[in-house]
Amino acid sequence: MNCKICNNDTKVIFHREVLHKYKINYHQCTTCSFIQTDEPFWLDEAYKDPINIDDTGLISRNLMFAKRSSAVLFYLFNSKKKFLDFAGGYGLFTRLMRDYGFNFYWMDPYTQNLFAKGFEFNPSSKQKIEAVTAFECFEHFVQPLNEIENLIKLSDNILFSTKLFTVNTPKPDEWDYYAFSHGQHIAFYSRKTLKFIAKKYGLNLYSNGKSFHLLTRRKTNNTLFNFLLKLSLLGFPELIRFLMGTKIFSDSQLIINKKKQQI
Ligand SMILES: [Zn+2]
Repeated sequence: MNCKICNNDTKVIFHREVLHKYKINYHQCTTCSFIQTDEPFWLDEAYKDPINIDDTGLISRNLMFAKRSSAVLFYLFNSKKKFLDFAGGYGLFTRLMRDYGFNFYWMDPYTQNLFAKGFEFNPSSKQKIEAVTAFECFEHFVQPLNEIENLIKLSDNILFSTKLFTVNTPKPDEWDYYAFSHGQHIAFYSRKTLKFIAKKYGLNLYSNGKSFHLLTRRKTNNTLFNFLLKLSLLGFPELIRFLMGTKIFSDSQLIINKKKQQI
C-alpha cells in the first residue's frame, strides 16, 4: 500500500479489530510517517450516525475551538471578512463564532444544521473566504490530499484540528485516537506529515504540536500562534466579542425578517 500523502512505501505496524469485528491493518509511511488503515470498506457502517453518541466531549471541544479560533482569526486575518466552517456538524461552532462577531458560515454534506440555520454556505457564491476551519475532519479523510485541495480552493488559510502523534508511533493500546470501536478515524498525522503537506502546497505550517494547526499562505511565527492560543484562555475572546460586536441580536433580526418575506 502506498502512502496517501507522499506516495512512498508503507509498512504494516499492527492490526486491530475495528467496529469490534473487522481485522484491519494499520500502515505507516516510511517517509512522512503518516498512518493509514486498509482501504476503509466499513465506513457506511461506521457512519450510521455521523456524530458518535459516545462523543461526550463535543460541546466542550466546540467551546474551546471557538475561543482559540477567535484569537487566531482576529489577530492574524481580516476579521471583517467571510469565514467558513467546513464539515460544521450541528452548526454549534458556526453559531459560537457568530456570537463572537465573525461572519461565519456552515457547510456539511452529512449532518443536519441545527444551530446555524440561515447561515449555510453557498458554494456558487464567488465571495472569497478569508479562512476555512476544519475541526476533527482530517482523521476521517479517505483521500486526504483531495480533501485538502478542496479546502485550499475555498481559502489559502486553513485552521484545523487533528491530534498528532509524536516521534514515537503510539502502540494500539497507547492512543485512544485510533478509535477502533467506532471505526471513523482512518488517517493519522505527525508534525512531519503536516510539514510535508504544507511544503507540497507552498503553505506555511503553524502548530501547537498537539492538536491545533494552521496552514496558510501568510507568514507569521509559531511563537505568536501559540501565544494567541494561550491568550484565548485569558479573556481575549471576550475582548474580541466587545470589539467586533456580537451577531446574536442582528442574526435573530435577520432571520425574523427572512421569515416575514416568506409569508
Ligand atoms: Zn508518506
